[in-house]
Amino acid sequence: MRTAYKCRAYPTPEQAAVLNRTFGCVRVVWNQTLAWRHRRWHEEQTSTNMPQANAFLTQLKRTEEFAWLNEVSSVPLQQVLRTQQRAFANFFAKRARYPRFKSRRGRQSAEYTRSGFRWRDGHLYLAKMDAPLEFVWSWPEVDPAGFTPTTVTISRDPDGRWYVSLAVETETSPEYPESLPAAGAAVGIDLGVTDFAVLSTGEKIANPRHLERRAKNLARYQRRMARKTKGSNNRAKAKAKVARAHTKIREARRDFLHKTSTRLVRDHDLIVIEDLNVRGMLRNRSLARAISGCGWGEFRRQLEYKTTRYGRHLVVIDRWYPSSKTCSACGHLLAELSLSTRHWSCPGCGTRHDRDVNAAKNILAAGRAVSACGGEVRHPGNRMRSPGKQESKPATVGIPQLRLRGGSQPNLPFT
Ligand SMILES: [Zn+2]
Repeated sequence: MRTAYKCRAYPTPEQAAVLNRTFGCVRVVWNQTLAWRHRRWHEEQTSTNMPQANAFLTQLKRTEEFAWLNEVSSVPLQQVLRTQQRAFANFFAKRARYPRFKSRRGRQSAEYTRSGFRWRDGHLYLAKMDAPLEFVWSWPEVDPAGFTPTTVTISRDPDGRWYVSLAVETETSPEYPESLPAAGAAVGIDLGVTDFAVLSTGEKIANPRHLERRAKNLARYQRRMARKTKGSNNRAKAKAKVARAHTKIREARRDFLHKTSTRLVRDHDLIVIEDLNVRGMLRNRSLARAISGCGWGEFRRQLEYKTTRYGRHLVVIDRWYPSSKTCSACGHLLAELSLSTRHWSCPGCGTRHDRDVNAAKNILAAGRAVSACGGEVRHPGNRMRSPGKQESKPATVGIPQLRLRGGSQPNLPFT
């Protein structure tokens, strides 16, 4: 498994100069190669493979205009070509947008593979540098001297902070050498807008307050920047503050998502979420701000790799599943439930429901059915079945009462 450790780096002025020059070269190689590919495609209708891109770089370095590319380590420049090749592969596979030109003002980075750095007892020596690069290690339980990074990425944020990211191949994560003991609990999660998430246990996880405050700060800095003359020193200063505010929001959100996902994975053997079409929802502009601020996509990614890492189970159910409109107690399906209705009583069994908690309970039940069947939950019209109990329930649309293999009623705490 590949694990990456990213921490703050503190290069000396000399090292910073070497790195800045390297960033410049990386950017030029990216942009020149991108423009060249673009021309080849539009004028000759030819696509470009890795050896051709390599040949182009060799040629570029021989020209007088770009001879200075030879002054920095060739490793990050080679690596840029590989990254670009991947970016195009993703574009052609419709997984990503067309690669864009890199700006001098954005985040800068350089990637070093094994031939571009040395790792000795937890010290990092980059090519073309004599002294090790200083960085602050923030995982006291992990000894960096004990492993060998496969790739090292140095980056500089627009606000001027430096980072080093170490990619390490591990059998299991060094932080959690074995999967955790069974937690004896399962949870369904309903991701929301008012609350970040509502759990089938009834717990509501609110969006953190400080994120809102930081967002207000950002808006204030942005207004200030807009008032400064373009190209002026004051504008540059205001811009750095905006960049810093952006970073703070990003870090606070990441921190919140990590804490939440770690806790959920630690406390549950089975986690069930809905496959939300975040992209589609972002097109709905009234929801867009709230959702893009929530980081659902990132949250799901974290749940995925953490459940794998800890030996837990994650089930993602179909997003068309009527989790809000179905009674989690009796399976009754409402014809209509408006978004503004926060509480409702089931006409079938009379149970009073909190809209989101009921949805989370249904999500959990659907996930359990999936993990018991080993199958998939599909459109609401398709009835879900538990093995061996197919005859026991009429063809109601919605969620049948939960049954486990062998037909015994489950003895689980959170249904
Ligand atoms: Zn009911």
